[in-house]
Amino acid sequence: MRHLGLDSCPGLVRPFPAADGALVRLRVPGGRIPLGTLSDLLAMAADHGAPVLQLTSRGNLQLRALPDPLPTDLVTRLEATGLLPSATHELVRNIIATPLDGQIASLVGELDDALVADPELGALPGRFLFAVGNAGGAVLGEAWDAAYEVIDDHCGRVLAGRYAVEVARRDAVAELVHRARLFLQHRDDAGVWNVRDLPDRSPVFDGMSPYAVSPAPPLRPGVVDDDPDGALVVGVPLGMLRSTHAAALAAVADEVTLTPWRSLVVPGGVTHATTLAAAGLVTTPDSPWARLSACVGAPSCGRTSSPTLELAGAAASVLPVDGARVHVVGCERRCGHPATDHATVVAPTTVDDILTAAGARP
Ligand code: SF4
Repeated sequence: MRHLGLDSCPGLVRPFPAADGALVRLRVPGGRIPLGTLSDLLAMAADHGAPVLQLTSRGNLQLRALPDPLPTDLVTRLEATGLLPSATHELVRNIIATPLDGQIASLVGELDDALVADPELGALPGRFLFAVGNAGGAVLGEAWDAAYEVIDDHCGRVLAGRYAVEVARRDAVAELVHRARLFLQHRDDAGVWNVRDLPDRSPVFDGMSPYAVSPAPPLRPGVVDDDPDGALVVGVPLGMLRSTHAAALAAVADEVTLTPWRSLVVPGGVTHATTLAAAGLVTTPDSPWARLSACVGAPSCGRTSSPTLELAGAAASVLPVDGARVHVVGCERRCGHPATDHATVVAPTTVDDILTAAGARP
């Protein structure tokens, strides 16, 4: 889809004026974040706005319902978290990655550093997304613009759109930066936000060959297969992380990884699943929450009168655990929709509307 005009992705340098107040998005490249930072952010959210952290479909965090303009005290506290190393590149540090992999975490760090060090790349659209993942990894099923697919410790493929080129591991970051620079040079106007909006013969793909990834489905809540440290994926109902969730997480881990599926990977979490479930987190795939997501809807968003979060929350108590994913939205913008197969419910007025779209009504 082609978009006209500048993107409006929000950040600390550019809060978005939503109906419920200013919205600030915080980038967390690769998703790894200390529990102490999450707790600090929740305290700021409670002091100044809605007492939640909203997990986004690109593994980032949002504070919402904030005063506009932002209070100086809040800006100072947000900057003190260390999540905002660059004002010029704040909006472009969008990197999703396979969790629990040391090599990939180190690549994410190198890519983030290279992005921030390149003055030209501060002009990337806020919607431009990088991914770093293992071959067959679930993050490669997301809507990235440029990605690195690990083949082994020494080499991989840099991907752009439907094309790829094999590179040595040591050249991966330089090649990703090269493709991002080409994108900026060869998109024909500022309304082209994504590589998928480019024609097939764009110079962005020079030297690449057609290639199709074969990603795994998104991680579902539950045990992470083959993880010797007993990591647990925990879902966050409707992506709204609360202080009760953070307190339970802080009791069992020092750090978690945010995923693009509104969940967290908790190292060693398997032995604490009961505690985490008692705090309201989703610890098994057989939960209605594991198939439900929603945009904020009314009254937080002025584009709809549909109270999407409230209706989706009510639907969770009667929705069967089996079936397709369901994304509930207030309008055709379909914010936050999953990249993989799902049913969409647009502007529901009743719980029945959601159940019908979910195939839970005859
Ligand atoms: S999908 Fe529509 S109603 Fe929902 S948050 Fe986006 S713009 Fe607002």
